[in-house]
Amino acid sequence: MATHTEVESKHAPPLAECPNCDHMLPQGLGEIECEICGAVCRVSHEPTIEALKNETVQCPHCATVVVAGTENRPVELTCSSCSGIFVITRKVVKVEIQCPNCQSRLRIRPRPGKRELNCPSCEVLFNVTF
Ligand SMILES: [Zn+2]
Ligand SMILES: [Zn+2]
Ligand SMILES: [Zn+2]
Repeated sequence: MATHTEVESKHAPPLAECPNCDHMLPQGLGEIECEICGAVCRVSHEPTIEALKNETVQCPHCATVVVAGTENRPVELTCSSCSGIFVITRKVVKVEIQCPNCQSRLRIRPRPGKRELNCPSCEVLFNVTF
């Protein structure tokens, strides 16, 4: 009876910029390909890697504390206590954007490139670029 349960990681690398075109790189560590210009960039952030390796999560099946042991996310872990399987997923990074019209704050998931946002308060459309 292996249920597939997910736990979100508490740590995420800081958002990095492509040195080639200055757009945001997709979130991650290691060799990351820029979605805008295709340049392959090495993203490394030692404190995040350490935090990810040492991250402890509670087994969602039996609440035993399990150490991730790797900086990879998502990663599948097997609980040593109940043999339950679960996945630590990537933390979803959100950024705060201010609506240029009404100044209300929107929390969005950044994606590389330009996109159009619709302010939920004043319904104005505006563009953001990452
Ligand atoms: Zn680029
Ligand atoms: Zn367990
Ligand atoms: Zn607005």
